[in-house]
Amino acid sequence: MRKPLIAGNWKMHGSIAQVDALLKGIMEGADAFPDIDILVLPVFVHLIQAHTLLKNSPVMLGAQNLYLGTQGAFTGEVSGVMLADAGCQYVLIGHSERRSIIKEDLDLVAAKFKAAVEAGLKPILCVGETQAEREAGKTASIISEQLESVIQLAGIEAFRQAVIAYEPVWAIGTGLTATPEQAQEVHASIRQLVSQNQVDIGRAIRILYGGSMKPDNAASLLAMPDVDGGLIGGASLDAKSFLAICAAAQNELAATG
Ligand code: PEP
Repeated sequence: MRKPLIAGNWKMHGSIAQVDALLKGIMEGADAFPDIDILVLPVFVHLIQAHTLLKNSPVMLGAQNLYLGTQGAFTGEVSGVMLADAGCQYVLIGHSERRSIIKEDLDLVAAKFKAAVEAGLKPILCVGETQAEREAGKTASIISEQLESVIQLAGIEAFRQAVIAYEPVWAIGTGLTATPEQAQEVHASIRQLVSQNQVDIGRAIRILYGGSMKPDNAASLLAMPDVDGGLIGGASLDAKSFLAICAAAQNELAATG
């Protein structure tokens, strides 16, 4: 059984005071879910504050982005080594907002994934299709392209440390959610693709669902056999909602053993 991971992508939200309140709220409830990995992903400037607050807490810390290399003349960028030094264990790679708004292409996403692993971070590689791509029947080919480009550059062994997040672009921040069956179909195909490269990695890798996961739809999504957790945007900004999703994951684990 894969250990569920519930990750909160806080995107470009929060002030020092809000981060303080949100983290305290999450920490108060997190002890009730010892069998779940819980992760928060604040913006860069809040990482040190979060790391300090999370000392002695089971809640883990990650970042939303990194740049290549360890240090150098890259104004405005932050390296994986710096993130690890600031207390991060995980980093998001290839989130659809970075692919579409910041124009990160397949090569840069793959290079960032490799850089994360080299820095000792666990990358959460986000993949997913747009509405138009789904309607054109291209979901499988888009996701395969997004995965293969990373496997080719970083090698399949790098996925031992990794998590994959299936995030249909049309479901992110829209209130639309993939049905559990739609999610399961894509998750199973992702696992199969990884397994074709290395069977044990395919079996072990956690594949999160992301796209308007909320307390009221989390249980049905998390009940799918290849859905190993959630990458949560909007609902992660409210401690009660985020903890309710953790509870759904814990209940699902209890139900399936
Ligand atoms: C996300 O940003 O990764 C996400 C899934 O957002 P939301 O839950 O708001 O759709």
